[in-house]
Amino acid sequence: MNRRTLAPYSIVVIGIAIACALMGLCLLQLFQSRNDALERARETSRNVGLLAERDIERNFELYDLSLQAVIHNLRLPNVMSAPPALRQAVLFDHAMTAEYLGSMLVLDAGGNIILDSANDVPRQGNFSDRKYFTVHRDNPNADLYVSDPFSSRLRGGALSIALTRRISNPDGTFGGIALIAVNLEYFRHLFAGVSLGKRGSMSLIAANGLMVMRQPYDEKIIGRDISKAATFQRFQSENEGSFVETASIDHVRRLYYFKHFPKLPLIIMVAEAEDDIYAAWWRRAWTIGALVLASGIALIALSIILGAQLRRRIRAESELVLLARTDGLTGLNNRRSFAEVLDREWRRARRARSVFSLLFVDVDRFKAYNDTYGHQAGDDALTAVARCIGENIRRPTDTAARYGGEEFVVLLPDTPEEGAAQIAERIRAAIDGLALEHASSEYGHVTASIGLASWTPEKEGEPTAVIKAADEALYYAKATGRNKIAKVPPTV
Ligand code: GH3
Ligand code: MG
Ligand code: MG
Repeated sequence: MNRRTLAPYSIVVIGIAIACALMGLCLLQLFQSRNDALERARETSRNVGLLAERDIERNFELYDLSLQAVIHNLRLPNVMSAPPALRQAVLFDHAMTAEYLGSMLVLDAGGNIILDSANDVPRQGNFSDRKYFTVHRDNPNADLYVSDPFSSRLRGGALSIALTRRISNPDGTFGGIALIAVNLEYFRHLFAGVSLGKRGSMSLIAANGLMVMRQPYDEKIIGRDISKAATFQRFQSENEGSFVETASIDHVRRLYYFKHFPKLPLIIMVAEAEDDIYAAWWRRAWTIGALVLASGIALIALSIILGAQLRRRIRAESELVLLARTDGLTGLNNRRSFAEVLDREWRRARRARSVFSLLFVDVDRFKAYNDTYGHQAGDDALTAVARCIGENIRRPTDTAARYGGEEFVVLLPDTPEEGAAQIAERIRAAIDGLALEHASSEYGHVTASIGLASWTPEKEGEPTAVIKAADEALYYAKATGRNKIAKVPPTV
């Protein structure tokens, strides 16, 4: 297969290669943007979680400072014997009136309220049963304590958590606790409006696994123990991290971000459903994917059509070339193409300093044949003669051509005179052997005479000179009896 016939296949192969590269590139790009979507969601969750954590931590720090201030000021002499209004002013700052904040209380060693930021005269109440009380009573070293969620007895069951600190007597014995109750509404308000998709959620969880707040809000979930859940188990492994997991409750795969508060026993968790994260990506992937797939298929189809067209054209062209080069009657080369071959061979022989020979074949007394048997029979005889010539040249480089009328030429590259004479004899004998009846011939059947000339580097003649020499040799053969071979210089 040569380069020209390879071209149509190359077009198809290149078309398919470009289409595949295009689709591959698009696939890579989509894969990349899918990863980007996940990465962006991770960042967003992290940012939301961090902001919530900072807000909570900072507020709790302020509440703790207020607790420490009360405990400190309680030690001042005469505070407890001061008039109630003055005592309130000294102990409780205005921060206590902040939104979402319950009252600040001081309880004695028995758990009874002795000071109440909301009233000059403390409300009645005993909280010795609460864990936030017993923790400090039973452990002198307990630091700031953050309680589990509970329903406030003083504020009509409002869900709250308490921050408590121990008050120690000068001798180190338990003197009671200072307490600030934080309404869970604070967290609910903090989380409200954060958009995390249809199935996303955000939670504040106590380190022991109790749910403090969750968005979307559901009162039943507050205080629920999730310490056995697989997701919570994973929160325990690190301080901060993110992972993808299928929730056992609703079988939705979510991207979870979690972070343990640095100073408080709390964990913030932000979760976004994978489907929500990839929703926009999917829409884009479908459009781009379909478009690229369609253009890829179109490109392949186009290259196949183009390749087929090119193949048809190349075939038609080569048929035309062949037609232009061959003789219609005999199928041999015509005179024009023979001239090209001869010229090419002459140059090659000159370069390589090789020998080539030329045979000039002319049918004997053919005018008479035509006159006797008719023009059609003449054509048939010429076809038979051409076949005799074609069948007796064997090398692929040998070229036979119809030179005109009933004259033929044979070019034999790399063949000296002796070899050429043998081939000439074979051709002559073959025509003779046809035994085509020819009444006007001295032999009684169709014969041909052959003139032979060779080109050698020593002679260095032009191609036309070789033809002329062969023609002269032919003339000699005719003159000396026909049905024979003559060489130049004439020897026969
Ligand atoms: P000789 O070569 O032996 O000297 O005699 P000749 O009769 O062959 O001589 P000449 O070359 O003068 O005649 C050629 C004749 O060949 C002329 C024509 O009648 C015939 N001829 C030439 N071309 C064709 C052809 O294509 N078809 C047919 N049927 N006859 C052709
Ligand atoms: Mg002739
Ligand atoms: Mg003749």
